[in-house]
Amino acid sequence: RFIVLEGGEASGKSTQAARLAERLGALLTREPGGTPLGERIRSLLLDPAPSPDPSAPGGAGGLAPRTEALLLLAARAEHVAAVIRPALEAGADVVCDRFAGSTLAYQGWGRGLPVAELRSLSEWAAAGCEPDLVVLLQVPPEVGAARLAARGRAADRMEGAGASFFERVEEGFAALAAADPDRWAVVDGDGTVDAVADRVAAAVAERLAA
Ligand code: C5P
Repeated sequence: RFIVLEGGEASGKSTQAARLAERLGALLTREPGGTPLGERIRSLLLDPAPSPDPSAPGGAGGLAPRTEALLLLAARAEHVAAVIRPALEAGADVVCDRFAGSTLAYQGWGRGLPVAELRSLSEWAAAGCEPDLVVLLQVPPEVGAARLAARGRAADRMEGAGASFFERVEEGFAALAAADPDRWAVVDGDGTVDAVADRVAAAVAERLAA
């Protein structure tokens, strides 16, 4: 079974993906990343070379939205071909921290790329590999902001992209979950790590008859 954890900044999904993988004895992997190439693409995305043209889409220091999307999708193609599909074919469970939902929420709702086009590009990159279940961790905005502040990351991220960017990303995730309730389970990410881990495990057991 292929299970994906999705959520916004500081939703706790990386912690919860690790807890879920441990509980299921599953392979834990992440996007962007998951392969040596993917981790190099992740570094590029998180710290791109400054654009020579500050008026370019994304501005100085940012990538054009389509460049960003194609890099993410290149990482996905490699991740599916080299890691996810072989693991699933060998009968393993795979837990992935972010997958196609993040592309649609961040590059579609967030950066404004056409969602239908992104969806078909993402399906093409993944060659039809789709999660059996997507767990969306939702935290109230003030909880996310407090967690980011505790990590010392609030100011730079919010200033770089603008709070409205993150609001659009959250809207995107909510819309994706509402449109595909058979595949998506929304879990309340507020509370202790243990409490949220129990909720995630319950959602997985209920949906996948673990
Ligand atoms: O999962 P994690 O929060 O570590 O992801 C690293 C960063 O990559 C996030 O802060 C997010 O803003 C960004 N990202 C993105 N578009 C994606 C996936 C992640 O901008 N499709």
